[in-house]
Amino acid sequence: MALKILLVITHNGQSIDDQVHNAVTACLQLDVNYHAMVLGHDCQSVIDEARKMKGLQKLFFLEHVSLEFGLAEPSAESISQFISDYDYILFPSNTTSKNILPRLAALQNISPITDVCEIVDKDDRIFKRPIYAGNIIETVQSEQDINILSIRSASFTKTPISSEANVDIEHISPDLSSIQSKHLGCEITKLDRPDLVGAKVVVSGGRGLGSVESFQLIYDFADCLDAAVGASRAAVDAGFVSNDYQVGQTGKIIAPDVYYAIGISGAIQHMAGMKDSRIIIAINKDADAPIFKSCDYGLVADLFDVVPKLVKHLKK
Ligand SMILES: Cc1cc2nc3c(=O)[nH]c(=O)nc-3n(C[C@H](O)[C@H](O)[C@H](O)COP(=O)(O)OP(=O)(O)OC[C@H]3O[C@@H](n4cnc5c(N)ncnc54)[C@H](O)[C@@H]3O)c2cc1C
Repeated sequence: MALKILLVITHNGQSIDDQVHNAVTACLQLDVNYHAMVLGHDCQSVIDEARKMKGLQKLFFLEHVSLEFGLAEPSAESISQFISDYDYILFPSNTTSKNILPRLAALQNISPITDVCEIVDKDDRIFKRPIYAGNIIETVQSEQDINILSIRSASFTKTPISSEANVDIEHISPDLSSIQSKHLGCEITKLDRPDLVGAKVVVSGGRGLGSVESFQLIYDFADCLDAAVGASRAAVDAGFVSNDYQVGQTGKIIAPDVYYAIGISGAIQHMAGMKDSRIIIAINKDADAPIFKSCDYGLVADLFDVVPKLVKHLKK
């Protein structure tokens, strides 16, 4: 019997989150067709983009003024009213889904399976997922009728959207009369450089930078490469950058084409956030730093010597 699959499309009100395209690949591994859902209010550009997703059979638009800002409580309640017919509910693994998914799972009394990195057997519901900061990959089998999964972007390629958009859209108004949360406002950090999640090139700095002023070297180098900027937790804790730059187990999990780790030792908790990068380049003055065991290219050097030279060379 064909599986019934529903993908929850996360977005910023204007466009679909990049990680959704990785989750589409997971949907297509489960079946050739799937349904998807957009929650929001007045977000036509998201709907237009979603309609072009490969393999999409039907798109549900759950529209309500309470869903405009992606609040977790009305989002979880809306999805919960809707999913009883599905075998699989998929989310991209990102900050939006981390907010909504546990609430949805609690409402449904279901154990979610988060950060899925491989679908081993879709019929027997066997999946792989990382634990202990990615040091162990566990294999889990679900006995639940409805399975709520979040899909680890670094483990699935992106499925590009097609040029045609011919799926049906069904508008649904969820009943949110019981919801008591209200959106009061938000402060959004405006970045002049690429977003850390989804950037093709990332330059990250660690404690080795030594100060906020010296961290400017990382920005200068990143600007030469049109790269996003990241940081280790030690750099964040030392106040060199804010914590939305943090890469790692308790920060962002990313897989750019090229990752520069500068003045970063390569602790397992940091590696958990970037080890799936296609090419890792490390600059560290300690030849025994653990990062050199995991990088593709390593330069044993003082960053204060080589990074300014690299910037000067690239600016020419
Ligand atoms: C539960 C838990 C969760 C954690 N989550 C995260 C996480 O999400 N992300 C994360 O990054 N960490 C995380 N950590 C912290 C992690 O264990 C490390 O402490 C941290 O990653 C170290 O950061 P660092 O490499 O910048 O600093 P250090 O380990 O101090 O390394 C600094 C490096 O800079 C080099 N260096 C110094 N000066 C120079 C120079 N002039 N030129 C070149 N190299 C130089 C040194 O040789 C050294 O290798 C977590 C820890 C725990 C316990």
